[in-house]
Amino acid sequence: MTVEQHQVEESKVNLLGMSPKKMKDFFVEMGEKPFRAQQLLQWVHQRGLDDFDQMTNVSKVMREKLKEIATIHYPEIIYHDVSKDGTKKWVMRMPGGSAIETVYIPEGDRGTLCVSSQIGCSLDCSFCSTGKQGFNRDLSVAEIIGQVWVAAKSFDVPGEKRERRITNVVMMGMGEPLLNFENVVDAMDLMMHDFAYGLSKRRVTLSTSGVVPNLYKLADVSDVSLAVSLHAPNDALRNELVPINKKYPIKELMAACDHYMSSLADRRKLTVEYTLIDKVNDEMEHAKELAELLRDTPCKINLIPFNPFPASDYKRPSNNRVYKFRDYLHNAGYTVTIRTTRGDDIDAACGQLVGNVKDRTRRSERYIKMREISETDQSAGLQ
Ligand code: SAH
Ligand code: SF4
Repeated sequence: MTVEQHQVEESKVNLLGMSPKKMKDFFVEMGEKPFRAQQLLQWVHQRGLDDFDQMTNVSKVMREKLKEIATIHYPEIIYHDVSKDGTKKWVMRMPGGSAIETVYIPEGDRGTLCVSSQIGCSLDCSFCSTGKQGFNRDLSVAEIIGQVWVAAKSFDVPGEKRERRITNVVMMGMGEPLLNFENVVDAMDLMMHDFAYGLSKRRVTLSTSGVVPNLYKLADVSDVSLAVSLHAPNDALRNELVPINKKYPIKELMAACDHYMSSLADRRKLTVEYTLIDKVNDEMEHAKELAELLRDTPCKINLIPFNPFPASDYKRPSNNRVYKFRDYLHNAGYTVTIRTTRGDDIDAACGQLVGNVKDRTRRSERYIKMREISETDQSAGLQ
C-alpha cells in the first residue's frame, strides 16, 4: 500500500469497533434504514467479513458508498501459534510499532479467550511483566474487539456455518481494563450483543487490580462478571505487590466489589485472583488472613502460581506449598481453583502473557523484523 493509499484508509471510519447504537446513527445519517446496522454487525462479527463486496444483502450502490467512507480493519497478526493442547496464541502488531498478545484456551466444551486492553500498563504490580514494560497506550474498541474477531475467524471452515468456539472472554491480557474504561465497556458490549458475538454476560469477565472509582462507574453501565486481583490479605503486603493499593486500600476495594456484585440482577460470585509467590504471600498465616478477609464475600478463589520472568527476583512456590494453601482455604469452606499453565510449548499463559518482558520485547521486535524482512524481500523481488 502506498503512503497515499494508507492515508485514505486512515481517514475512513473503521466499522469493526462501532457500537450498535453508533452503527444505527451512521446508517441513518447516510439516509439509510436503521436495520442496515444489524446486517452490517452480523456480516462483520458473525460471519467474519472484512470485504463489503461479499455482503450479499447489501445493494451494490450501498456497498460502493460504504467502500468510499468506511473500512473493516482488524489488527495485523505478526505471529500465530497453536499448542499441542489446542491453546492458541496471537501476537498482533499495533500502530506505533509495539505488539499485544491474545490467547485462546480450550477446556472441555469451553473456549476462553484472554483479551488485552492496553499496550503495557501504568500500575506496575511488582510481579507482572506487563507492568514492568510501562504504559504505552490504550487500545481502541476496534483493537480490543479485533482480537475476538481474529480469534473467531481462525476457526472458520470455508463453506461451513461458523461454530461457536469462543464461549468465554476474560479481560486478563495486557493492561488494566478499568483504566481504558469507555473502550473496554463498548468492546464488552459487542462481545455480548446478539448481532455480534452473543456471549452471555456471565461469561465475559473483567479483571481489575482495583481502580475503585471506576468499579462504581462500571456498576452503572455493565453487568459482566468481575474478577479482582487481590494477591495479598493485608494492606502492608498489598501495597508492596499492587501499588494502586496505596490509593485504594483493601477495605475500599472490597466495598466497591460488593457494590458491583450486588448491582447485578442475578446471583454471581466474585472471582478473587491470588498470585502465589514463594515465601512472599503463600504462608499459612496469609491463607488464614485471606479466609478471614473474605468471610462475608460470596466468592471463588483462583490461585495463580507465579509465572517467573528474569527481571524479577520472585519465585514460583513448590506444588506442595500451592496445595497446602489451597487445602487451607478449601477446608475453610471456599471454592478454590488453581490456574494450570496451558500451552507451555508455545509460551502462552492467560493473565501472564509471556513471563519474560525482555523476551517479549525482543520477540515482538523479532516478529516485526521477520515481517519487515519478508516484505522487503517480496518488494525487492517485484522490482
Ligand atoms: N490488569 C488486570 C488484568 C490483567 S492481569 C489485573 O491486574 O487484574 C491478569 C492476571 O494475571 C492478574 O490477576 C495478574 O495479577 C496476574 N499476573 C500478572 N503477572 C503474573 C505473573 N507473572 N504470574 C502470575 N500471575 C500474574
Ligand atoms: Fe497492570 Fe494487571 Fe499487570 Fe498490575 S497485574 S501491572 S494492573 S496488567
